Amino acid sequence: TEYASPHELADLMGVTAKDIIQKCFSLGKFVTINQRLDKESIELIALEFGFEAEFISEVEATAVLIEADEPEDMQIRPPVITIMGHVDHGKTSLLDYIRNSNVVAGESGGITQHIGAYEVTVEADRKITFLDTPGHEAFTAMRARGAQVTDIVILVVAADDSVMPQTIEAINHAKAAGVPIVVAINKVDKPEANPEKIKTQLSEAGVLVEEWGGEHQCQEISAKKGIGIAELMEKVLAEAEIRELKGNFSRDINASGIIVESELDKGKGVISTVLVQRGFLKIGDPFVAGNTMGKIRALMDERGKRILFAGPSQPVRVLGFEDLPQSGDVLTVMSSDRDARDLAQKRQVIRREHEFRRSTRVKLDSIARQI
Ligand code: GDP
Ligand code: MG
Repeated sequence: TEYASPHELADLMGVTAKDIIQKCFSLGKFVTINQRLDKESIELIALEFGFEAEFISEVEATAVLIEADEPEDMQIRPPVITIMGHVDHGKTSLLDYIRNSNVVAGESGGITQHIGAYEVTVEADRKITFLDTPGHEAFTAMRARGAQVTDIVILVVAADDSVMPQTIEAINHAKAAGVPIVVAINKVDKPEANPEKIKTQLSEAGVLVEEWGGEHQCQEISAKKGIGIAELMEKVLAEAEIRELKGNFSRDINASGIIVESELDKGKGVISTVLVQRGFLKIGDPFVAGNTMGKIRALMDERGKRILFAGPSQPVRVLGFEDLPQSGDVLTVMSSDRDARDLAQKRQVIRREHEFRRSTRVKLDSIARQI
């Protein structure tokens, strides 16, 4: 395994890269300034300069140090919701209804673009953020990367159908993630709707609704007719209240968030929907996001309106990326452009090395198979 370059070592020990290279030379090693040295060489060189080398993992080396949360900065934030359920049970219809019924009067048009996350304002000016991730993939991909983005799952089950494989899958995902489930029994406008049957099947799948003595709130709805949606929102907010979901609302910390979705726009470049988790993203902030970096050039809400900053649980469209980030990447604001670039470069080097090692292994494997 290779670690730091002479350049990085020099920085760490407060000597020049030339000193390091010369030392390597005297030890019989020929290296260039940006070449990464092996562990033994680093140990030797460090000793020569009176240091003891201590190695940390790549994960640690490329992590961002996060300041601790001060209790006084922690405030209640809007809950982040993912709607899950079997195909055709009405997930999109529910989200569309919620979105369209909350278009503020005077605001031109609803939200037509698919951008992966929306904030809606319900009664008494309370906000709820919805993640609109295609299927369950993004949810699981983000979780696999350790990003916990969803606070509550709304499980949609069609009352004219049954608990289906993807219903079970959704229940399993939510339970594995420790995310509470609020049940929405949809399509109750249909004559053949049988909500009681659904509740029975759900109980068999380990989801017992409240009225039957369980812990899961349940609401009968029609996403098409708008029946029971306000009540569903109330139940979601009640669930959020019990959990006292808080976020760090300090204006002084380096903000961070999760990449929900990204696209490449011909004119504007990379546009990414970010769910802010901590602090406030502001125009001009330098940041890293996975292996890429940038500087926030513009922030927009879900209607494309320019905004100046975005805080905890707020989804925001961000311009200013150098490259496409991946869904589930953490975006972290850095203290300077230089810090952002240094960290992004370090991550890129490590990624390239991993790719190189992987491709070498593949080649060796195929050679081995041929022999
Ligand atoms: P998704 O696959 O879970 O996103 O489901 P969709 O929202 O695309 O809905 C699938 C079909 O069910 C569409 O034809 C909808 O119009 C219909 N649908 C959704 N909700 C309702 C409802 O409450 N009542 C009725 N009658 N039809 C619905
Ligand atoms: Mg859909």
